Amino acid sequence: MLTAQTVADLIPFAMAAGVSLMLALETLSPLVPLLPGKVRVRHALRNLSIAFFIAVVAAFGNVLAVAVAAWGTSNQWGLLNLFDTPWVLRFLFALAVLDFFEWLRHRLHHRLNFLWRFHRVHHTDPHVDSTTALRGHPVESLITYSYYCGLILLLGIDPLSLALRSLVSAMAVAWHHADFKLPLGLDKAISLVTPTPRTHRMHHSRNVRFTDSNFGTVFTWWDRLLGTFTPADAQPPGKTGLEGFDTPEQQSLLGVLRSPLLDVQHDVLPPSEARADRVLQ
Ligand SMILES: [Zn+2]
Repeated sequence: MLTAQTVADLIPFAMAAGVSLMLALETLSPLVPLLPGKVRVRHALRNLSIAFFIAVVAAFGNVLAVAVAAWGTSNQWGLLNLFDTPWVLRFLFALAVLDFFEWLRHRLHHRLNFLWRFHRVHHTDPHVDSTTALRGHPVESLITYSYYCGLILLLGIDPLSLALRSLVSAMAVAWHHADFKLPLGLDKAISLVTPTPRTHRMHHSRNVRFTDSNFGTVFTWWDRLLGTFTPADAQPPGKTGLEGFDTPEQQSLLGVLRSPLLDVQHDVLPPSEARADRVLQ
């Protein structure tokens, strides 16, 4: 029988398989030119080394989140437990509503200085490909799992729905970071539902107008509904990465991990101030 813990245990392997598949597809049909052979390997190894710390947090975080969902469900915590809801509806609710809250979390990580200092580690990769999906700061992962534990209890998400939604989300992240070229028409059709490599590349642009758009993970609907969607053919997004974070020291494993403490000169402006000020000329 499919249990939540079995699905949760599968997530790291599924993520590794998804990134490996996308690496192969990138080689066949890159959206932007591939890095030269040795540089590509070095880039992948650097992102994998950064990912190690997230994987440690995720190993505990996934077990904890499933345990919290199991405890909440058996004690009838949260919105869904107020009603007698069929499991299929519970799962669809978890898939859609947790994706909205993930959109919100991501948006807040771009808006608030404290959160941006950790999240920007994901954005400082100058060459976005499927290994970028694995790159982030472990403190952001800690914050994210804490946020999810609270949401699970408030919404009454059951453990199997949570684990399946996490699996879908991991696959979506591996997919939309890939440096993979689809025909534009197909890309636009797919992006009616889920972010594509082209639309997510906008989010990794050095141009802040684009960086502060396309926050979605599994669905593009929240960006479309809330006015933060940039279509794949809006305008070439230009270079990816983040201005001011390109030195070898900043791109080293230690530099990336220490970045939230050291590189405070690149904080975002408060939301009330003109966002246009951040647009790089
Ligand atoms: Zn982001």
